[in-house]
Amino acid sequence: MVTGQIAGRGVRDQRVLSAMRKVPRHAFVPEAVRRYAYEDQPLPIGHRQTISQPYIVAIMTELLAAGKGDTVLEIGTGSGYQAAVLAELVRHVYTIEIVPELAKSASAALGQLGYQNVTVRQGDGYKGWPEKAPFDRIILTAAPPELPQALIDQLRPGGKLVAPVGGSSWSQELVVLNKDASGKLARKTIFPVVFVPMVRP
Ligand code: SAH
Repeated sequence: MVTGQIAGRGVRDQRVLSAMRKVPRHAFVPEAVRRYAYEDQPLPIGHRQTISQPYIVAIMTELLAAGKGDTVLEIGTGSGYQAAVLAELVRHVYTIEIVPELAKSASAALGQLGYQNVTVRQGDGYKGWPEKAPFDRIILTAAPPELPQALIDQLRPGGKLVAPVGGSSWSQELVVLNKDASGKLARKTIFPVVFVPMVRP
């Protein structure tokens, strides 16, 4: 999976590639689709949600460019797989999932694999996690129509946010937002992507 689908498509960051080699994707997908866990595709995880295609997880992780000492906020825990990949790379991952059953199963899967630096919370990602802010990095794996101001506010100066953004429910742009030391924002569009929409509670 990593050699063919990820390095083969241009992901170069060795830390990302080794994190992707280490995390067992099959442990995050339902039994019924487990045999497809290392295929080049998103997979259903129940509750009309999906675990992203491995390449997309890798490219978003590379774009996030998180360091060992960083604290990361993820919106859209889903299966917990992206959180596990990040947990291999950073100090702590805080992740928010709106569907209670998914928050619970992701938390169980992460616990079973021994990840102690991930905290899963059921809640509304539009609000972020003010008690733990500011974050060095923020990643969204569900698409809001616009970047939520609360999340921009919870990004540390010098921080970076990666998100699919767009109002159309099945086509968005992957966006990287940099906040410089003085708080000034710079936004870059990477390429079109397809994510599930971020829902309002
Ligand atoms: N990162 C996940 C993929 C997530 S799919 C993984 O690695 O498996 C997107 C997830 O975002 C879904 O589980 C969906 O329930 C969740 N979501 C949608 N709207 C949300 C919101 N407002 N707050 C938090 N999570 C939300």
